[in-house]
Amino acid sequence: QAQAHAQYLADHDLLTGLPNRNHVIKAYPQALEDCRQQGLQAALIFLDLDHFKRVNDSLGHGVGDELLMHLARRLQQALGPQERVARLGGDEFLLLVPHAEAATEARVRVQELLTLIAEPVQISQTELRVTPSIGVSLFPQDGSDIDVLMRHADQAMYCAKAAGRNSMAWFRPEMNAAAQSRLDLEVELRRALAQGDLKVYFQPRVDVVTGQVVGAEALTRWIHPQRGLIPPDVFIPVCEDCGLICELGAMVLEASTRQQVAWAGQGRALKISVNLSPRQFFYHALLQEVRGILQRTGCDPRMIELEITESVLLGHDERTVATLEGLHALGLGIAIDDFGTGYSNLAYLHRYPVDTLKIDRSFIRLLDELPALTEMIVTMCKVLKVNMVAEGVETVEQLAWLRERGVHEYQGFLFSPAVPPEAFERLLVQPQ
Ligand code: C2E
Ligand code: MG
Ligand code: MG
Repeated sequence: QAQAHAQYLADHDLLTGLPNRNHVIKAYPQALEDCRQQGLQAALIFLDLDHFKRVNDSLGHGVGDELLMHLARRLQQALGPQERVARLGGDEFLLLVPHAEAATEARVRVQELLTLIAEPVQISQTELRVTPSIGVSLFPQDGSDIDVLMRHADQAMYCAKAAGRNSMAWFRPEMNAAAQSRLDLEVELRRALAQGDLKVYFQPRVDVVTGQVVGAEALTRWIHPQRGLIPPDVFIPVCEDCGLICELGAMVLEASTRQQVAWAGQGRALKISVNLSPRQFFYHALLQEVRGILQRTGCDPRMIELEITESVLLGHDERTVATLEGLHALGLGIAIDDFGTGYSNLAYLHRYPVDTLKIDRSFIRLLDELPALTEMIVTMCKVLKVNMVAEGVETVEQLAWLRERGVHEYQGFLFSPAVPPEAFERLLVQPQ
């Protein structure tokens, strides 16, 4: 039973109960094969909600989740006998429609979907309306395997978005050109990584009470020869998409451990935290790689903290726990980054080896308007008895508030943004 349950969790999206991307990759090749054998075609319909982020940002993730559940149910109820629907992640859904005349059928189905999604959804007192952008690829003319068909449907969806949303687009081979520019960025990133154009900057972590710099967060910057400084929000997602993130992550960890050792040699005991993206966390050779880096650089693992986001803990499977415990056994600290913005599964959090919670800067920003909310987050940290770091502190008032509440450390522009190592060293000698 436990195994069946674990299998279910691996193949389903917990929020909507729909099959997930994992399932699509595993099961759709057979579904396509069945079509082939029955002499059928199929349409792959990629559906992405327009401006869903706005719902999350303005009404909160709870409302966003509820909206997704409503829409997932609608999609499921609208399925024909041989059709399938899956949630690929976020606000992306995928439908598989086998049919003798897939193009004709898809045209009808897409119109139905546009109407179906646009129907208002009632959540508490609010009536919400969202629209989708839809991209369609056809089997077998646009591709014979599921990876290619999904990529093509995705490209078509991008074109529908670009064309003004709430619309649909068929995949056309020319769309590969648009995808080419994304690919160019990948190629450039790969080159940047090889040439050392990606630099690790450090933002001080400061003791709230003493004002001493006690550590730093490593934050990556792309110093582009023509375009200048490119922030991580632009290139980290690209790295995640194309798998480059593991290589980048290893580079950042190595640079950070070397820096830690160099500063330790100057008599400065600074704890350095390094961001670990989910993709990297689930990389099978992570532990081995981290161990290798620690050995090569001779860094004391207790002086390195890895920052993961709550989304990593969502699945709560054995592998997550094993990886976390493995990292902990190496002596590394674990921090939960952007705490409070994810699902904050408090029931599980205390079971993980977590050393630090980094209170997301949105709560610090909210201090003026809604201090009770920030207060609640701080209280949660206290209950969990972990080290607390406030992110994004920009004013002395915010700092005073944190001091009063017993928050241990802070980061923020009030003290300094992330800077290159040389500038960081100057910050250490300057009285603030
Ligand atoms: P994060 O880990 O939450 O990093 C904190 C972000 O807040 C940084 O943005 C930092 O510059 C910014 N910040 C710090 N103090 C303040 C402040 O007082 N006010 C405001 N408004 N912002 C402040 P940055 O460097 O642009 O990084 C954005 C995100 O990119 C990071 O969020 C992290 O998730 C990701 N990232 C950066 N470097 C790496 C990396 O090497 N690996 C991975 N996996 N992710 C990275
Ligand atoms: Mg971070
Ligand atoms: Mg953060």
